Amino acid sequence: MLKTILPPHAFYGRGSQTGPILFLTDDSSAERNALELCYPKGIRLLCTFHILQAFWRWIYDSKHNIKKEDRASIMAKMKKIVYASSSTEMDTCYFGFKQEFYHSYPQLRKHFELLWERRHFWAHSYRSELPTRGNNTNNYIERSFGILKDIVFARTQAFNPVQVFQFIIINMERFYERRLLGFANKHPGHLIIAKRFLCPGWENVNANEIQRTNVANEFLVPSTKQDTGFFYTVNSEIGTCSCAVGISGAPCKHQGAVSIKFCISMFNFVPSLTPDDRMIYTYIALGR
Ligand SMILES: [Zn+2]
Repeated sequence: MLKTILPPHAFYGRGSQTGPILFLTDDSSAERNALELCYPKGIRLLCTFHILQAFWRWIYDSKHNIKKEDRASIMAKMKKIVYASSSTEMDTCYFGFKQEFYHSYPQLRKHFELLWERRHFWAHSYRSELPTRGNNTNNYIERSFGILKDIVFARTQAFNPVQVFQFIIINMERFYERRLLGFANKHPGHLIIAKRFLCPGWENVNANEIQRTNVANEFLVPSTKQDTGFFYTVNSEIGTCSCAVGISGAPCKHQGAVSIKFCISMFNFVPSLTPDDRMIYTYIALGR
């Protein structure tokens, strides 16, 4: 359905048939197979939280005979493999893991080897150059379901399908409409929240040294390490930075400093509050 209703320039110009660059999901084979079928070009990553949670459950399951005293260190090693920043570091951790546990736990060996074959879906070292915007978990979607359950349904579970439909098209609609109007009307509560999303450390960037380049929306931002003379390149339009944090499109202190110095709204931080953008929010909320 998405393929038929979205316009040809959907997904930032990639088109409704090509679809998004990447997906981040739980390890649900039904969902993942459907995504592969519809959007074979999309990269399907796994949510770090769910991968670790599933592994934790596996080692704490008494059927798998993992000794109590080994569980914590197996889990810690697994985390190191997942979070390793380069493939060399990941391989080193993996070989250490093998040597330490494989001989005493054949079941773990079997289980982990299957996971290892799929490491390009879950290991962070495979993601460093992907535009994940710093997201390695699908918390956004969990949060929107949280809103649906806590606020829209007010934690009531007894709705029949007709009522569920009613709540989604009326109450949920109203909730998001009010949110958007809050931004459109500069409701102060939203700005207090938005400020918290500026990355810690942006105040330490020397704002006087930030320079605009000849390229539109591009800035050179000095490193916060003293006297290195090193500059990172920030692009405020696409919300990226050449530093290790911002390279995936995640918010970083350099982007925060640019945003504050030039009063530019950025995808990663404060929503734009220019009169034109506020008119657009109102239009989306009210449909007129
Ligand atoms: Zn940066």
